[in-house]
Parts: sequence; C-alpha cells; structure tokens
Amino acid sequence: MTMPGTSYHHPLRVAIIGSGPSGFYAAARLQDEEGLIVEIDMFDRLPTPFGLVRGGVAPDHPKIKSVTKVYEKIAAHPSFRFYGHVEFGSDLQRADLARHYHAIIYAVGAQTDRRLGIPGEDLAGSHPATEFVAWYNGHPDYRHLQFDLTQESVAVVGIGNVAMDVARILARSIAELRQTDIADYALDALAHSKVTTIYILGRRGPLQAAFTNPEIKELGEMEEADVVVGPDEISLDPLSQAILDRGEDKTAAKNLEYLREYARRPLSGKPKRLIFRFLVSPVELIGTHRVEAMKIVKNELVDDGRGGLKARPTDQFETIPVGLVFRSVGYRGLALPGVPFHEPWGTIPHDRGRVLTQLNGGQPVPGDYVVGWIKRGPSGIIGTNKPDSIETVESLLEDLKAGKLMDPPDPSRAALERLLRDRGVRYVTFDDWLYLDQLEQQRGQAEGRPRIKFTDVEEMLHLVEEHKQLISKQEMGG
Ligand code: NAP
Repeated sequence: MTMPGTSYHHPLRVAIIGSGPSGFYAAARLQDEEGLIVEIDMFDRLPTPFGLVRGGVAPDHPKIKSVTKVYEKIAAHPSFRFYGHVEFGSDLQRADLARHYHAIIYAVGAQTDRRLGIPGEDLAGSHPATEFVAWYNGHPDYRHLQFDLTQESVAVVGIGNVAMDVARILARSIAELRQTDIADYALDALAHSKVTTIYILGRRGPLQAAFTNPEIKELGEMEEADVVVGPDEISLDPLSQAILDRGEDKTAAKNLEYLREYARRPLSGKPKRLIFRFLVSPVELIGTHRVEAMKIVKNELVDDGRGGLKARPTDQFETIPVGLVFRSVGYRGLALPGVPFHEPWGTIPHDRGRVLTQLNGGQPVPGDYVVGWIKRGPSGIIGTNKPDSIETVESLLEDLKAGKLMDPPDPSRAALERLLRDRGVRYVTFDDWLYLDQLEQQRGQAEGRPRIKFTDVEEMLHLVEEHKQLISKQEMGG
C-alpha cells in the first residue's frame, strides 16, 4: 500500500467525531502538516458545530465564544467537511468508518455529570449544573427541562468555574441577560425568577477553590447581587496558610484576595445575595416530594498524602433551607459503542492520544485516536485543548509514516455520503450551518440581542432544506 496523504488521488482520510474545540484543534494540526494531502470529515450529532463553545460557555462571556472565528477558518480550508446531525453509534458505527477512513479521532467531550452520592440527590429540584447550563444555552436535548425558579433560596454545590457560571446566570438582572445569546425560553423563565439567595458551597477552603481570578472578580461586579463572605469563612487553617506563605500558587492567592475584599465590603442593598460557604459538604437533601432543605457537614482539611489537602467531615451539622440545588461537581465522559473506555475515570484509555484496549498494559487500537475531555478528563480552559490535540495528531502522523493506520477498502467521500443518504440521514453541511448562523444573528438583531439560537433540531433541518430548495430553484433559473 502506498502511504496515504501523498497525492490527491490517495489523500489521508480522517474522521473526527465531535465538533468542539479539541476536534477543531486536531483538524488544524492536520491541515498544518507540510506536504500532507488530507481529507478531514468532522461529525456531530447536533446540526450545529462548536460543542461546549455553543452549549457550555456562559452566554454572558461573548469574548470566549469569539474563538469560533478561528474554527470557521479551519472549516473553510478545502480539506474540511462538516457532517452535522450524524450520530456516531447510531447513524454511523465504527465499522462503517473503518471502510472509509484511515484514522478516527474521538473528540466527544464529557457528556454527563459526576454525582454526589448522597440521600435525596434525585429529589425534584436537585439538578446537575451541566443540565442547567445546557438548558440556558439552548442545547436541543435539554430545552424542555424545567427548573423551579419560584424558589427563593438555591444552593450551588462545588466551586469551579461552572459553579461560577451558574451562580452568575441566576444572579444576573434581566437587562444584563437580554444583552446575551441566552436561549429565549431561558430568558423568559429567568425574567420570572424569584431566586434571591444563592449559596455557593465549597467542600474545601477558599485557597483550594477551583474557580479562576476573572470569574471570582466578575461575581463582585453584578448589577443586582451582593457577594457575602463571612469573616470565618476565609480564615485559613495552618496547612493552607503554609501553602499560601510558600507563594507558589498565584491564582489561589489572588482568589483569596478577592474573597477577603468581599468579606470587608458592606452590603449595598442589592436584591440578590451570593453567599459563599467554605469547608462544607452536603450530606443529604431533605424533602418529601421535592428538595426543601440541605443538610451539610462542616469539614476540616487534612493532608491527602499526595502533597495536597483533602476535606474530612467533622461531627458538626447544619441545615440550610433551599428549594433548588445545582450540583456542579464536574462533568463525566460517556462510553462510545465499540470504543474502549476506562469506567473509573470516564475517559478513553490512551497513550499520547493513541487509543488503547485498556488503561494498564493495553495495546493500541490501530486507527483510533482521542482528544479533549474524553482523553484527559473534564479540566482546563478552551486553549488547553490545543496542545492536547497537537499531541494526539503527532502520534497519528508518526503512525501514518510507520504504516500503522487502517487500510480502508473504500476511502472516498462520495462513498461515505452515499452511505448516509442510503440510511436516510439528513446531514447538515458547514454552509448549511453558516446559513443558520446568519438567521440566528438576524433574529437577534431584530431584538437588540447578539443572536437568538435555534434550539429545535427539526426546525433547523426544515430551514436548511427550504434554503437548499430555494437555491436550487434559483440555479435552475426558476
Ligand atoms: P472543576 O473545575 O473540576 O470544579 C469542580 C468543583 O466541584 C471543585 O470545586 C471540586 O472541589 C468540587 N467537587 C467535586 N466533587 C465534589 C463533591 N463530592 N462534593 C463537593 N464538591 C465537590 O469543574 P467545573 O467547574 O465543572 O469545570 C470544568 C472545567 O471547565 C474546568 O477546568 C473549568 O475551569 C473549565 N471552565 C472554564 C470556564 C472559564 O474559563 N470561564 C468556564 C466554565 C468551565 P475539589 O477541588 O475539592 O475537588
């Protein structure tokens, strides 16, 4: 077999499953390879691209979302095709891809949430933060969810950046939210929200918070909400003080500065309050039919034996009255059909991006690669995915040169598209998406908002179809 990628008759064909940041950075690295003739087909189960940039990044963070301009350039490269509304595992199996591609890169992210494992966790009114985020961002699978915003007191469990996003969205004024691309149904629901008290609960201390500096700073700049930090909450235990004194973690030290400033600030009388509590863990959600309160235990910090500090419960308990709970303790990856999975970590086992049959002592699966959160777990910011995807593609390119990729019998786009059509899959191209994108922005402009998202898959497919028919009529001079 001649090495694929050396001529236009015999390009390297790569399928990327998932169209979030890690998938796009993998595509970019393939495009950058000097002299490589490559065809990159990117699949997403949604008709819209960009993964968590569209469905995860908070609507009031438009600057972060502007990274899609970079992805649009990658998509405009002649090597690239987008196939939206195509689901791996149902519309296409791994065996189908093995017929048409030399390599597959899984870039599916982490699609579910970690659990607390406490009694009452599944009571009505207790939700994973991931679902609330997907709901307010207009993710089609979550648009029908309901959150009881008639509750006045809410708890957000966890103190990472997702917890900050959720707390902010609950605390924002409607005027602030109206300037964003938040889903229109979420804007309506939040306009009637009665939420005034938002507890933010960290199981460890202020120095161990997982949020970053801009996020904690932003919380102190809300139009309608005061931040409340009791002086006891920010007094450090001797172990944390020693860590602070070593001066190694600048982010943690700065976080503490903001929290100390909030502790000094008098209340300004804004209608909502964001109340930080540290060193507490929920042990039970209490309620007959729905959440009525949360029992928490006070923790202390102890050496975790790995150079860090972990929370250990004491015998002091407290009950806080909350009617709504958002569990923001991290995302978790889901297994893909026919692809190895390491259940304890919720990730695909790999060696520098090469998928392994199992984590310890596993063999590489020829042709299979992994990037992003499903590779390394749900951590880091968007930019973290760039070096991560580069590492994986470099492994792929090494394997290409060593003749270790798959040898597909029918490596052509036409064959892939025929397969999709034969199966009745109504796939969406990148041009179709650009049309939807333009419509969303036009709808937004009419109401002075950046965009109004489509959130219904059928509606999107219908609009795309209508547009295609119009264009073909025009082309035929009709
Ligand atoms: P995260 O940063 O890992 O934070 C998870 C939080 O949950 C931590 O405070 C953790 O505490 C806590 N936690 C875990 N298990 C718990 C339990 N059983 N009980 C109580 N608390 C528990 O995760 P994330 O907030 O989901 O964010 C995911 C990634 O996306 C992060 O890297 C984040 O920075 C990134 N992100 C970035 C932005 C942004 O740049 N603006 C926005 C959103 C998300 P411990 O530390 O004690 O484990």
